[in-house]
Amino acid sequence: MSIFLVDEYKNMEPYVPGEQPSDKLYIKLNANETSMPPSPKVFEALSKKEIWNMGFYADPNCKEFRQAVADVYGVTEEEVFVGNGADEVLSFILMSFFRRGMKIYFPDITYGFYRTYAKTYGLDMEEIPVKEDYSVDLKDYMDLKGDIILANPNNPTGLSNTMEDIEALVAKDPERMVIIDEAYADYSGETALPLVQKYPNLVVVRTFSKSRNMAGMHIGFAIASKEIVEDLNKIKFSFNPFNLNGLTMAAGIAAVKDTYYFDKCVKSIIENRENFKAELEKIGFEVIPSKANFVFCKSKEIDSKTLCVKLKEEGILTRHFADERLKDYLRITIGTEYEMMVVLIAIKEILAEASEEKELGIKKAI
Ligand code: PMP
Repeated sequence: MSIFLVDEYKNMEPYVPGEQPSDKLYIKLNANETSMPPSPKVFEALSKKEIWNMGFYADPNCKEFRQAVADVYGVTEEEVFVGNGADEVLSFILMSFFRRGMKIYFPDITYGFYRTYAKTYGLDMEEIPVKEDYSVDLKDYMDLKGDIILANPNNPTGLSNTMEDIEALVAKDPERMVIIDEAYADYSGETALPLVQKYPNLVVVRTFSKSRNMAGMHIGFAIASKEIVEDLNKIKFSFNPFNLNGLTMAAGIAAVKDTYYFDKCVKSIIENRENFKAELEKIGFEVIPSKANFVFCKSKEIDSKTLCVKLKEEGILTRHFADERLKDYLRITIGTEYEMMVVLIAIKEILAEASEEKELGIKKAI
């Protein structure tokens, strides 16, 4: 640490993303990304034109891109804010609408970045315990005085709340902002987006990193009232007006317009998720019913940390969380049909090895 870092940042705990090793080729199922390519339209959209235009700043209002998103989601361009991933969009939301010391509530088991943000912005965060089965009970949030952020579906469990419950929460107090992070909503088939035009205290955040196969481009957006979006843009223009470059926006426009490819990819991941879950259950795994592009699961035969290490030795990356309440589980991103077949074979081999070792150990002990 240098002598220049300001005191309030000295105890900051940066978010730790899923590892990105480059020592060999992995089947990468540890960060809820995908090995599927973006829409073929993206390949067509990224032409030499974007390279020639690199001498100029891209449109800081992101007009064309916001319009394309608006058209697809049935809102107006003024209700769309775009940023460098959902992470940056969330960051702009917290920067714009929260002051140091302000209250923010979120579940104690959820996307780890919320805690990081709350610390970064000096917010008075309160983590509401999830239930025994890891579900988020929105009744626990109804009477809270302070803004709320919820990932729906939640990460790392994949569990989701119904739109009825979300609407009741949003409707309860119009002065309380409810931020619904829908990073995985495309895999659940449910969204709070239609509620945005009814409730000006609702902000819905989305990403291109999952269902549009574009984590590397890092595009996120929020849909909210035009007043909220205006505020967000004001803060953006006071911080970094050029948060999205021309190449990214050209890719984003092409991707969002290609609803056919998008639907096909989402459908295939949902199918693979359900098949993979069923196969895991056949070999004794407990799998939390997921509405996202990952499953959170555990086996009685092997502890999840060991399974994670052994899968890595087999060239498969998954995510194990050390937290006390999460350590028994392993989060496995859902990939292509082929990838999931390879993972399943690897898991079966690892389990067979583990049971052989157990038997040998028993024999030796006797
Ligand atoms: N929200 C949730 C719930 C997530 O799991 C993630 C991805 N890890 C993000 C937001 C961040 O998405 P992006 O890549 O667009 O920053």
